[in-house]
Formats: sequence, structure tokens, C-alpha cells
Amino acid sequence: MIVCKFGGTSLCDASQIKKVSSILNSDSRRSIVIVSAPGKRDKTDTKVTDMLYNCHSLAQRAIPFLKQFDEITFRFTSIAKELGVHTDKIEEALNDIAFHIEQGVTADYVASRGEFLNALLISEFLGWELLDAAQLIVINEDGSIDENTYHTIAMAIDPDKKYVFPGFYGSTKEGEIKTFSRGGSDITGSIVARSVGAELYENWTDVSGIFMADPRIISDAKVIDSISYREVRELAAVGFNVFHEEAIAPVRQASIPIRVKNTNRPEDQGTVIVPSRDASQNPLAGVTVKTGYCRLSVEKLMLFKQKGIRERLENTLHTMGVFPELSAFNIDSIIWFFPSSQVANGLLESIASLLNKEFALDDAVCETGFALAAVVGEGFGKNIKKISHVYTALQQHSIHVVFSSFGISKTAGIFVVSESQAHDTVKVLYEDLLR
Ligand code: ASP
Repeated sequence: MIVCKFGGTSLCDASQIKKVSSILNSDSRRSIVIVSAPGKRDKTDTKVTDMLYNCHSLAQRAIPFLKQFDEITFRFTSIAKELGVHTDKIEEALNDIAFHIEQGVTADYVASRGEFLNALLISEFLGWELLDAAQLIVINEDGSIDENTYHTIAMAIDPDKKYVFPGFYGSTKEGEIKTFSRGGSDITGSIVARSVGAELYENWTDVSGIFMADPRIISDAKVIDSISYREVRELAAVGFNVFHEEAIAPVRQASIPIRVKNTNRPEDQGTVIVPSRDASQNPLAGVTVKTGYCRLSVEKLMLFKQKGIRERLENTLHTMGVFPELSAFNIDSIIWFFPSSQVANGLLESIASLLNKEFALDDAVCETGFALAAVVGEGFGKNIKKISHVYTALQQHSIHVVFSSFGISKTAGIFVVSESQAHDTVKVLYEDLLR
């Protein structure tokens, strides 16, 4: 059995949905399809999920939202009409949703309706049975998946039938609808694939796989043939967003391969994500960069003489909403890197003085404008000598490495640079290590 997930751009209009239908029907093993809400039709368009969030936010502020809701209604009914699908059920569901928004339901409930409505529409079009994620996926308070979910889904599926399954949401133990983080339909696909023990999880999108570097930076970046789960997670942590990083866990436990494919070019091989890969031919998988980081550094003589100081400092950071993604320390100092977006602008300036006050530090500085660049590959550890030469190349391009981290992970190395040099850093790393 193959479980397929199609993203928002693959389902943004009737002609895309027809492509999806022909992909599904071209292989009888494709018997479960997970769908996102309709995405952008072009760069200026708005995703249905964002339109729904907007309606919810208007309703919360007691501002009329029906005009905006009508656009959602129009979007779904016009797709249905073009596909020759009866609109009765969809219109009934839309009226019900508008009523619930008026009643003040949660943002999660409203956002989840994009996937629900699209699943309803596509199940009518394909003639496949609709399953409701709210009845089958239980999401714990901490965001993890309740273990019974896998069994519940397995029980709901008859291997001789075909199903449409809405992505992006499940429900809490109490039965309230709860969504995953944005892009979370990938997670739904992964949960369903594991539940049915799929031979393959196909993740259909609008690009022909995972690139070795962002094609907006390296225009001729190569598509990766095969990449490990671990490599994908490491790349995703630093800005790669072809596949949701949280979607790895369920399939990893069952060793189910994931193939990322392009709905608009189904003949392209795409990229396969596997439990492990032979890294002798291609030791490195890719390079990526993420901008918008802050560096917070603190210093104090005999800092670590105070037991638990690091933990206490970090707890204080957590209370300010700061959750560092990279840190290092030595005898009298600690540095942390965290996304500036974690903290409201005005607050950033006060972090250092707050810490100074509370911990009587010698020095505390918080600066913005950094980027984290990562080189990722299963063969990273064995090629450290080659990789360390890249410092020379970076220097030749006048790129100043503020901080680097090798050895925390077996599969990745991080270079921190100034934001203004982010793209140049990727170019040098790509030319030097991956070309
Ligand atoms: N529709 C949701 C979003 O826009 C989930 C998804 O597409 O995976 O984030």
C-alpha cells in the first residue's frame, strides 16, 4: 500500500486536482490520500488556511467576517463546479462552519476546516471514502501523538478500499479539534503511513525533490537522490522546509521510506528519504542557511563556580520566551544563538540588562543580525579534514565566521556568519563541498 500526501499547491484548483487524480489512478497501490487545504495559485494568492485564520481573528474582534468567508465559499464551490462535483454537501459544511465561527470556536477548529472541506470535495470527486482525522488522531497536550492513534487508524481502514484523509489536524483527548504546526499535513501523512504499515509514503509537492541547496541561492542546485531521515531533520532545523521535520518520527519508527515528488512532473524521480544511506559516494547531502538570529553572550569571572548557573540563566531566558538553538560555553562565558522572532522587538534590548541585574554578570550583550549555515551529510564525520578546508575558501571570499560548531552532531556542522553574508556563505559551501 502506498500512502500519498498532496500539499496545498498540488490542490489549489480544479486542474491541479485532476492531475492528482490521474497520479492516484496510475498505480493501484495508491489507496490512501492525505490532502492539504487549497494553497496559493500564484505568488499573490492567499492560502485557504490563512483566509480561515483571518475569519477567526475578525470574529474574535467582533468585526464582520462574512465577506471574507464568502471568498472561501466561492473558492470551494467553483473548484467543485469545475470538477463536476455536487456542491450540496460542501455548501452545507460551509454554512455550518460560518455558524461555528460566529459562535466563537477556536482558531484550531477554524483552520482545520480548510483540510476538511478539501477532503470532502476530493472524496466526492474521486469516489473514495472520507475519513475524519478528528475521530482518529489524538494529539496529546505536549503535541505528541497518542500511541492508540496508530491502532485506531489501522482498524478504520479496509485494505480493499480507497480513502481520502484530511491533513493538519486531529483532536485532543477531550475531543476538541487541534491542529499541528503550519505545514503539518506532512505529519498526518506520516502517521497514516505508519498506521497501515505502508510500503512507501509519497509526499507530493511543487518541486522535484529535495535540493542540495536552496535553488533561489544556487540556481543549478542538484536534486538529492537519496537522503537519510537524520539528514532531513538536520537540514530542516536550519531552514530547509521541503518536508516538515516533525513528520519524520512516525515513519522512522517503522522504517517506511518517503519519496518527495512533483505533482507537475510526476515522471521525475524525486528524492527518497530512507532510514540510512551509503555515504561513500556522496558524503554530504546539502547545505542550508537560516537568517534572523540573535547572539547573546554573558561573561563573569568564576561563572561556573556557581552550581547550576547555566540552568538558571536558561530558565530565565525561557521565561522571556527565548529558547536557544545553539550554545557553547567555556570557563567564564556562555553564548547562545536564538531566532530574534522569539522576542518582541523592544524586549530584545532589555534581555542583556535583565540578566545582568539578576545574575550580577561582568558583561552581557545581545546582538541581532546573524545567520546559521549548516553543512549536512552522513559522511560528515569522515570528511572533517576536507570540510575544515572550507574556512580558507570562506576567508578568500571575505566571509567572517563568527562561530562554528563541529562534532555536536555526527551529521552536521554549523557556521554562524553575519546575515548580510548568508547567501554568499551558502555559495562558497556549495562550490567547495558539494559541486
Ligand atoms: N494548510 C496547512 C498550512 O497551510 C497545513 C498544510 O498545508 O500542511 O499550514
